[in-house]
Amino acid sequence: MKTRKVPLRMCLGCQEMKPKKELLRIVRTPEGSVEWDSTGKRNGRGAYICPDAACYKKAVKGRRFQKAFGADVGPEVLANFEAVNANRKESVEAVINANSKEMVLGKQNEN
Ligand SMILES: [Zn+2]
Repeated sequence: MKTRKVPLRMCLGCQEMKPKKELLRIVRTPEGSVEWDSTGKRNGRGAYICPDAACYKKAVKGRRFQKAFGADVGPEVLANFEAVNANRKESVEAVINANSKEMVLGKQNEN
């Protein structure tokens, strides 16, 4: 039996199943507010969307955020998509940079 351990989630925009790590998470916190979850680990009911403006627009048009959470999602939250998406790209790059620095440092330590 083939086992694929990559957890898949459905994008609210294109409604395709994609690896969770490639998607942005938006979460309804136990306090009832809806926020972007850049860590992917926050408590609450989550929904996922591709880091893609086209998917975001589809999701907004179809009111899919509201359907996913069973609650209204303020436009001020949704408007953060671009910023969250940009931050995510930066943090991914920061991780890559940090890793490559560590590798350099590791080599130096060996010598
Ligand atoms: Zn999508």
